[in-house]
Amino acid sequence: MIPFLILLAIALFAVYFFTAMYPKKGVVTTVTPIDPAWLIEHVLFYSELDADNRKRFEQKLSAFLTKVRITGVDTPVSDTDRLLIGAAAIIPIFHFDNWEYPNLREVLLYSDSINMDFETKGHADRNILGMVGTGPLEGSLLLSKHALQQGFLNQTDKNNTAIHEFVHLIDKLDGETDGIPELLLNKPFVLPWINLMHEKIQQIAEGESDINPYATMNKAEFFAVASEYFFERPDLLAEKHPKLYAMLKGMFGGD
Ligand SMILES: [Zn+2]
Repeated sequence: MIPFLILLAIALFAVYFFTAMYPKKGVVTTVTPIDPAWLIEHVLFYSELDADNRKRFEQKLSAFLTKVRITGVDTPVSDTDRLLIGAAAIIPIFHFDNWEYPNLREVLLYSDSINMDFETKGHADRNILGMVGTGPLEGSLLLSKHALQQGFLNQTDKNNTAIHEFVHLIDKLDGETDGIPELLLNKPFVLPWINLMHEKIQQIAEGESDINPYATMNKAEFFAVASEYFFERPDLLAEKHPKLYAMLKGMFGGD
């Protein structure tokens, strides 16, 4: 009986010791200051919001950065990187209430594009700017720091890699990354959405579209690429692709 109690005491002490030593997974200890002036200058989406909505954006951004760990793999992570990642996460879900990314624990930041073996410099086959982790990397989002920054340096070119990857995460929530985000689409809209995607992919393939040809890869890529366009150039999308604009607005909300 006595040895058992001693063992129990040791076990309890060990649990206490390791809990105190290591912070809980998913709880981020770094606090990133959120500076409205910085956001106005660097995040066009934020700068176009009214005062109340800017506050909402800041709250969502702060909640995201508290919940999701951001780790630099071969590069340090600055406050700028953290704010840009957070902004890319919040832009697509800004109009949803109480939204979290349940399928995301950690963002892994690489200095530049990576190849299929997650290698950066010195490898010629690096063509991945961002990627939703699968298998052992489930719950992670991989991002090139260079692509992250480019996405926000040029905010009118219809490209933003980080937003693209967060849209894949939203798409994936129903179990499949297939371009059909069932959580955002009411049943009657599923078939019209699939038909519209086919029509638009066809137009791109025939060279009759200003949508990035990467969208012809498959429906998941079409959805992510069209969403980049929607968040960066909503007016232009509404003008050139009114049906696509209306469907995306139905899914993501906003004016
Ligand atoms: Zn993609």
